[in-house]
Amino acid sequence: MTKKSLQTQIIHTDYTAPGGFAAFPPAIHHASTVLFESVAAMRSGEWKEKNAYTYGLHGTPTTFTLEARLAEIEDARHCLLAPSGLAAIAMVDFALLKTGDDVLLPDNVYNPNRELGRWLSNDFGITARYYDPLVGAGIADLIQPNTKLVWTEAPGSVSMEVPDLPAICAAAHARGVLVALDNTWSAGLALRGFDLGVDIIMQALTKYQSGGSDVLMGAVMTRDRAVHDKLAMAHMRLGLGVSADDAYLVMRGLPSMKLRFEAHDAGARRVAAWLKARPEITSVLHPAFEDCPGHATWQRDFSGAGGLFSVIFDERYTEEQTDRFVDSLALFGLGYSWGGANSLVMPYRMAAIRRNWEGKGTLVRFNIGLESTDDLIADIEQALGQLQK
Ligand SMILES: *Cc1c(COP(=O)(O)O)cnc(C)c1O
Repeated sequence: MTKKSLQTQIIHTDYTAPGGFAAFPPAIHHASTVLFESVAAMRSGEWKEKNAYTYGLHGTPTTFTLEARLAEIEDARHCLLAPSGLAAIAMVDFALLKTGDDVLLPDNVYNPNRELGRWLSNDFGITARYYDPLVGAGIADLIQPNTKLVWTEAPGSVSMEVPDLPAICAAAHARGVLVALDNTWSAGLALRGFDLGVDIIMQALTKYQSGGSDVLMGAVMTRDRAVHDKLAMAHMRLGLGVSADDAYLVMRGLPSMKLRFEAHDAGARRVAAWLKARPEITSVLHPAFEDCPGHATWQRDFSGAGGLFSVIFDERYTEEQTDRFVDSLALFGLGYSWGGANSLVMPYRMAAIRRNWEGKGTLVRFNIGLESTDDLIADIEQALGQLQK
């Protein structure tokens, strides 16, 4: 080849960095185009087998590494990443449902999942029906011949009911129906979903896995190759790629995740116990507390709880008063998501997001961050003082 022009030289450099570099962090591989060594290599690579790199969307060493590490934590065989937890939920629905099918969702389901169900019902000819999260084996009565999927969430991340997963899975499997679990609340650390019978586990990595309140990502895992293949086709067809930088940020959070989770858990139980003793609060919806529907199931199936729980204010307080409580908190940010170092708070209008919400009094959800619990309790105490003003 004749000498390259400067313009070409700028693009086709002759320099290659020496090999043999080693460090703990995984490398960040950016790629849309992935280069094949030869036409033969291009033709033989099979993205679904993950035995070759074919295109940035189908994975790089960075995303494959994160998928493998998440699968280890959940004791899964296969893992796929998505650009958000909600995109991971959508991947499951589009992989497993088609026109004429039916999907069952718990009535306390993560609200955007409910909204997706509404869309499937309105525009895709799929029925989405809602069940009492405490239904247990009674789910059998709701399963129709066209039911293909049962979503579960353990616990529901606002009202915290803990479902009986083994009972739901047994009833669903008896009718050949798959069960998907949103396992975000316990980060895959405190609930062994596959061992309880679940077929598919979804996680919002946005929460504890990242831990930084700065990344959006989701994952879908399974032990079943045939189910994984369907998920992988949906992942490919929908173009659910994640950025290498974001995958790196999630991986950066993983080594400290369990220790952070335990610290959130200890802090949340302490704050929840303090709230339980307060006259302003009628119930503490934390699965480790007796007030929480499904508490006994949590004791049987879970090994921890993390930082997220809700309380219900006595019905004598108006929404205006509980809003003032929320606005008066100084250390709790008012915002969605959770799992980061900063404590958060969010009031919910339950009647608007649930079919048969009978609870009276405002529900307020707390995410206990990594601050000192003494400081958090002092902050809540001063904000409770603002209720009466
Ligand atoms: C946050 C969350 C999701 C969605 O995750 P995003 O990354 O925000 O889309 C799904 N399920 C639960 C239970 C969540 O808390």
